[in-house]
Amino acid sequence: MLQVRDPHPADSRAAPGSRPAAGTPLADAQGRLIRYLRVSLTDRCNFRCTYCSPAENEPPDGLLTRSELARIFRVFAALGVRRVRLTGGEPTLRKDVVEVVADAAATPGVEEVALTTNGHRLDELAGPLREAGLGALNVSLDTLQPERLAGVSGRGARLDRILAGIEASSGRFRSLKLNTVVMRGVNEDELGALVRYAWDRGALPRFIEQMPFAGGLPVPLAEVRRRLADEGFALAPDGWRGWGPARHMRALGRDGREGLVGFIGAMTENFCAGCNRVRITCKGELYLCLGQEDKVDLMPLLRSYPNDDAPLIDAIVDSMQIKPKGHDFDLKRAQPAVIRFMSHTGG
Ligand code: SAM
Repeated sequence: MLQVRDPHPADSRAAPGSRPAAGTPLADAQGRLIRYLRVSLTDRCNFRCTYCSPAENEPPDGLLTRSELARIFRVFAALGVRRVRLTGGEPTLRKDVVEVVADAAATPGVEEVALTTNGHRLDELAGPLREAGLGALNVSLDTLQPERLAGVSGRGARLDRILAGIEASSGRFRSLKLNTVVMRGVNEDELGALVRYAWDRGALPRFIEQMPFAGGLPVPLAEVRRRLADEGFALAPDGWRGWGPARHMRALGRDGREGLVGFIGAMTENFCAGCNRVRITCKGELYLCLGQEDKVDLMPLLRSYPNDDAPLIDAIVDSMQIKPKGHDFDLKRAQPAVIRFMSHTGG
């Protein structure tokens, strides 16, 4: 597990704001190279996680079609994107999710296709997704206790199904990660159990600071590390980096077992300076930052110019000028900095 090094380190730099010549990648006004595209396949979700989605989702209309998604993959790959993550909402609610993965994997230039899911449909989908070319899978797992899961994600969330999906995915993908949003008074006492559960399945456990889309203050990563130490894990820095912002530590448990643990700290360990990504919502909005409002609507260009990529490419290249330096989340305020849920932008 985890032998792959990032072939495009997040701190790559290009001439600030440069317009790419053919074959040169997108760079924003800060000179950050954009290698990573996250695409939301739907804003619908069968879970209602307290930190993520509004109580009701909008009805699904005007979604990017499969062929529009394939076009987006092709255009972004030609502009230097090397990794595509499919997310949502819950991407596996989309009937054509396997075909969309296959389209992304077949796109020249795309080196890896990844997917983030709540795991509910994984038991049946793990095999087809692997065959379609999915390389990396992230499953959200906030707790190992069914009642707690219901409290966080709603009664529709079934832990037995998620765990069956993780079992079905174990050993199947180049990378399997289990993501936990650490919540005060909810799952802080399960960190060690989540680490051991992940390691037993050949997966990388990762702890995420809660961002304030739905209010709430994060449990700082420093505290997460302290709690792991209290649970008997000796932690040492490890330089391993994937494509994203996670930092890793090598953990040695009291029982002598050892492995990596990932930490994603958008709030207390800001990583905006190395941002290498942009996001597209299921309705074709290109968001330049998860924590800012800057966006460009690509849908009119996709639909008005079905056979001409030039206006689309121009809009994407121009958008680089408005990619913000960083998010405006305020650690001292439990108020949302942007009124937009993760389920809209795509987590
Ligand atoms: N439905 C899928 C899932 O559950 O993984 C994909 C979409 S979900 C928006 C993607 C990821 O965003 C999940 O790992 C979720 O925990 C994370 N997320 C959502 N809201 C968040 C928040 N406020 N702070 C930090 N992470 C959040």
